[in-house]
Amino acid sequence: MWAFQVSPPPSQQLAFFPKHHAASSLSFTPAATFRPSSLSVTSNPELTIQNNNLIQSLCEKGKLKQALESLNQEPNPSQRTYELLLLCCIRQNSLSDGISVHRRLINDGFCEDSFLATKLINMYSDLQSIDHARQVFDEISNRTIFVWNALFRALSLVGKGEEVLIMYRMMNFIGISSDRFTYTYVLKACVSPESSSISLLNKGKEIHAHILRHAYETHVHLTTTLVDMYAKFGRISNASIVFNSISTKNVVSWSAMIACYARNGKPFEALELFSNMMLEGHGLFSPNSVTMVSVLQACSSLAALEQGKLIHGYIIRNHLDSILPINAALITMYGRCGELEKSQSIFDRMNNRDVISWNSLISSYGIHGFGLKAISIFEEMKRLGFSPSPVTFTSVLGACSHAGLVNEGRMIFESIKDHGFYPLVDHYACLVDLLGRANQLDEAAVIIQDMRTEPGSKVWGSLLGACRIHCNVELAERASRRLFELEPKNAGNYVLLADIYAGAKMWEEVKRVRRDLELLGLQKVPGCSWIEVRKKVYAFTSVEELNPQIEQIHALLLRLSMEMKERGYVPETKVVLYDLEDEEKERILLGHSEKLAVGFGLINSGRGEKIRITKNLRLCEDCHAVNKFVSWFAGREILVRDVNRLHCFKDGVCSCNDYW
Ligand code: ZN
Ligand code: ZN
Repeated sequence: MWAFQVSPPPSQQLAFFPKHHAASSLSFTPAATFRPSSLSVTSNPELTIQNNNLIQSLCEKGKLKQALESLNQEPNPSQRTYELLLLCCIRQNSLSDGISVHRRLINDGFCEDSFLATKLINMYSDLQSIDHARQVFDEISNRTIFVWNALFRALSLVGKGEEVLIMYRMMNFIGISSDRFTYTYVLKACVSPESSSISLLNKGKEIHAHILRHAYETHVHLTTTLVDMYAKFGRISNASIVFNSISTKNVVSWSAMIACYARNGKPFEALELFSNMMLEGHGLFSPNSVTMVSVLQACSSLAALEQGKLIHGYIIRNHLDSILPINAALITMYGRCGELEKSQSIFDRMNNRDVISWNSLISSYGIHGFGLKAISIFEEMKRLGFSPSPVTFTSVLGACSHAGLVNEGRMIFESIKDHGFYPLVDHYACLVDLLGRANQLDEAAVIIQDMRTEPGSKVWGSLLGACRIHCNVELAERASRRLFELEPKNAGNYVLLADIYAGAKMWEEVKRVRRDLELLGLQKVPGCSWIEVRKKVYAFTSVEELNPQIEQIHALLLRLSMEMKERGYVPETKVVLYDLEDEEKERILLGHSEKLAVGFGLINSGRGEKIRITKNLRLCEDCHAVNKFVSWFAGREILVRDVNRLHCFKDGVCSCNDYW
């Protein structure tokens, strides 16, 4: 790796370009065999034309070896001949022949031809030899924009986004103007997985301004890349403005915006946009795998099983069911909608599997609380020769946590380093969660203390969550102090701490935390629950007044709570963060979004139907108790997926065994 050093004058620009480390493996000294010695150098022009035509036609027919033999017989190959030879090397996937053509090209004095240098760089990057591509770039002094773009393309193909940005800065310094292709590569570099800093977002915005200034916004490929860039940084409104400005949208641009919504917590919008795409396109747009994966992801987020099934039907009818990422998304969708058997059957029917499909299955069992099954799938996966990825470990450790499998989880955590990487922050967060839930908070605290890297908000957040379950005020204060520093704008941490104080009846502290929250101007994320009834998804918040059936829902919930009280139910008023009269607390509890959703489900769905709900926060103890009762009293299965896991309420018990 090399770093950009500032400011030598443009005349010394070559000194800017460090020679690539592997370049020494290449030597382009003219080779004797390539000098067509058998022919006179001043050859017959008519014969030259004939020979060039012959070589070109052999290239077009894919006869590379014969073309190269003819090249040996021709002293004056044309630029077009070289272009076709290089293309033929790509098609034949022959790096060694490509290198031979390159040597001959230097020999013939074409080394300063920027057109051929561009083609050479493209050939090397298509043949996955970035070192050669880089060397061609370094050795040519006549760099026009095409040569630069070819280098950006080569670097992009191997994911070297950082180098694209460094070279782009250099190109600007030298004074070469960018074109729309340059902007595409630079935008892609801004979203390369290696970094996601705010400076990259600013760079992306700067490119956006250039695009507008040069009126490039009519180029759909470029604007779609802009949508992707904003999506990566979670800037939904910027992405949407760019998307709406595209006059002739294609399937890639629609998919980019759908993916933006699906990945940034806007599943409703993702599904809505998908239906707009199908309607507005009048069948012109066939969804691609990105569209399908995003739409399935949105269905998963909302536990919208019926919509998910419709999408699955579309996938089968359009023969997309052999595409690996689509299958993984289907496994996840069914798993997260509570249809574990369906997840398993999709997995079983797959002809090819990759690590992602295994991960999807492991986490599906995990959120259902089937920890041992998740571990056995993990073992099977290794036995069949698949190398677990960091995500695999996150999935299997999460599964251990939901099932309280402390020893198994510890062993799996210890085994991470045997797979070529050290535990990442996510893995520590899982381990802390596992130990914390199992009330081994001291051990969790020691693990955090001994971490070699900065624990970060996920790890401290896991500890704080566990402190809430076990009412450990002292450790909670320590964790929250760190969290307030790391995430000063996250109201959730304040709410959690206030919750812990409320649990310990420390009302003065509750007030203090609430005051801090107000002083900082932070808003608590409102609780929201979604329910799908007759293929339509409805959202409920705890202040829901928009639903036309709201009065009916409230009346039903009140009736149910009276029935429950007669059978000894005591509302879990400790989950209410205010020092209020119990009656008022009960009223607040009855307004929780998940209860409203359950009430809506009871009123609007048929007797034997399962009620499926998703919630954006953790399910509270009171809603948990009420759901258990309702599942028994109304004889209905209720499935609630909260941020942690899935709860299946049936006949008065929950699949989590009250461990969540
Ligand atoms: Zn609740
Ligand atoms: Zn439960």
